[in-house]
Amino acid sequence: METEDAKYKVLLIEDDTLDRMAFERFVQAEKLPYDYTAARSISQAEEILKSQQFDIIVSDYSLGDGTALDILNSVKHIPIILITGAADEQVAINAWRAGTYDYLPKDLDRNYLKAMPETIEKAVKRKKVEDALDRRQRNLEAIFHAAPVGMLLADENMIVTRANDTIRRMLHRERTQIIEKPICYALGCINCTDINERSGTEQASAGCSLKNAMESVLHSGQSVDEVEIHPTLQIENSEIKPWFCISVEPVMIDGCKRLIVAMADITRRKKAEDERRLVEEKYRTIFENSAVAFTMADKQEQLISWNKFTEGLLGMGADDLYLKPVSSLYPAREWEKIRAQDVRQKGMQHHLETVMTRKDGKLIDVDISLSVLKDSNGKTTGSIGVIRDITERKKAEEQLKETMELKSQFISTVSHELRTPLAAIKEGLAIVLDGVAGRVNKKQKKFLDIAKRNAERLSNLINDVLDFQKLSAGKMKLQLESHDIEKILSEVYETMILYANKQQVELTFASAEKLPLAIFDRAKVIQVLTNLVGNAIKFTPEGGRVSVDIQRRDPDWLIRVSDTGMGIPKEALPRIFERFYRVNRRGKQIKGTGLGLAIVHKIVMMHGGRIEVESQVDKGTTFNVFLPLEVKSPTESASEAKDELLENIVAAPY
Ligand code: ADP
Repeated sequence: METEDAKYKVLLIEDDTLDRMAFERFVQAEKLPYDYTAARSISQAEEILKSQQFDIIVSDYSLGDGTALDILNSVKHIPIILITGAADEQVAINAWRAGTYDYLPKDLDRNYLKAMPETIEKAVKRKKVEDALDRRQRNLEAIFHAAPVGMLLADENMIVTRANDTIRRMLHRERTQIIEKPICYALGCINCTDINERSGTEQASAGCSLKNAMESVLHSGQSVDEVEIHPTLQIENSEIKPWFCISVEPVMIDGCKRLIVAMADITRRKKAEDERRLVEEKYRTIFENSAVAFTMADKQEQLISWNKFTEGLLGMGADDLYLKPVSSLYPAREWEKIRAQDVRQKGMQHHLETVMTRKDGKLIDVDISLSVLKDSNGKTTGSIGVIRDITERKKAEEQLKETMELKSQFISTVSHELRTPLAAIKEGLAIVLDGVAGRVNKKQKKFLDIAKRNAERLSNLINDVLDFQKLSAGKMKLQLESHDIEKILSEVYETMILYANKQQVELTFASAEKLPLAIFDRAKVIQVLTNLVGNAIKFTPEGGRVSVDIQRRDPDWLIRVSDTGMGIPKEALPRIFERFYRVNRRGKQIKGTGLGLAIVHKIVMMHGGRIEVESQVDKGTTFNVFLPLEVKSPTESASEAKDELLENIVAAPY
């Protein structure tokens, strides 16, 4: 107590002047660290207390305007030491019971003053300890009430003795509805419907999980966790049904068994669980009732889950399938293929057509989508297979293929059979027209010419049909060799100039530069050029022009066939490469089969090239054919040819 601040502030209440002076003298003589103020009466003391703080009050018991108990009642926070007459021991005891800290009995020699410093010291210290405890208590209370879990304390009879604010908020209840109530009633536990609210007696039903938990804690002394209750709570006029998770802990308080109940609101978690369960059920229903087979395998590639459809498809039951190696569902060769694809796809999702083995040994055609499952570290945990039975589709495809081959054979046979007599007819007509078989008069010649033209048309048609048929069936192979493009060009020119002259159309051929040798099928490219130039002359009126030029457009060479003819309407452009498509030209139908451009298109595609067309009605048309300078191998794969063939069967009008 060396500093001024460390002095005790003492209020002395004493109406006896001599006693007051004795106190002051004693303090000075003993150099006591007191900063004291004296009051002569209760009212003066009260006045002083309004404006000053004190660490301790030392007060005579009996004063002119009252007793020290009056001060005790109005000043709760300052410890009071009572100075009583020697005969007033009972008064002192009563005052001490009322809250005074200590008392000093007065004696004539004022020896009581000697005991005063220690008494004051003890009282101040005690007050400090009490204050600290009080603060701690208040802090604990605050924590108890603000804790994020509901907490309550119950006695051995399961009657609630304390409850925090959180639990009251959770239950939407007043203190009076919780404190002193049986715990099941307080928590609105639905299993304890027989609890009598008015009498407050608890007769929880035997199945009450909360009551069972608490009984178990009381008997075993072991805590119990995760007890879930689902009470129905009344809030004003409505009901709510929250979910609570409760843990019960045994404690001993003042030598008595008590239960600490902690309660968390898990309604949201429960709802989320419910929703997840519903979603799971939904997927399970889809999984179970799907008309495709679903299988799930573990990381050892053994079946662990499948749906009903799988059992039907494979003719197997649960005993046959559970932990069956996935590989055993396939013929060995097919499994190798799946494995190879798996390696190629690096274990990701893939799709394939394969064959599976049923329990009875029968093979079934299937289409499978396989997805590999991985955990968050990228490790494979299993796989899911979606399997469709495509046996019927495969059968239909087979039938279609057979039909298509039959048809193709039929067309070839018929065309060939037509060609021979037609050649004889053409030959016969030529002989008669040449006059070898006798003179032909004008009228006869006219009809023989008509017959010759029509025989020619029929022959063209048969040739086109046969060509197209061979191309479509993939039966026509390219004869790839190195050729001089310009030579081919002049050959075509020689053939077509006669026709152009006849139609009175100007025909010019040009090449912008010296072109290198290119690799292509000579006969087929001549066919392309003849067709395009023939069309250009055919659809260009007298006096018009047709020009063909060739340029290098690395890595291709470009043949451009332009005319100043009647053009092709915009809406017809996308269709002109379709087989048998002919532009409808009202009033001026020009003869043809509608197969020429389809054949051209096929040949160009087989060479790995492309064909483009630009046209304006009554102005003219340009066909641009790009062919690679070097055709490596025919690009139209067998499967494409097959698809085309299928398409023909469905759509071909013959
Ligand atoms: P077609 O035997 O009728 O000539 P194509 O397949 O060769 O059959 O051509 C299809 C149609 O495209 C023709 O009927 C014609 O209407 C149109 N066509 C083709 N080339 C030309 C062209 N150079 N000018 C105008 N129309 C053309």
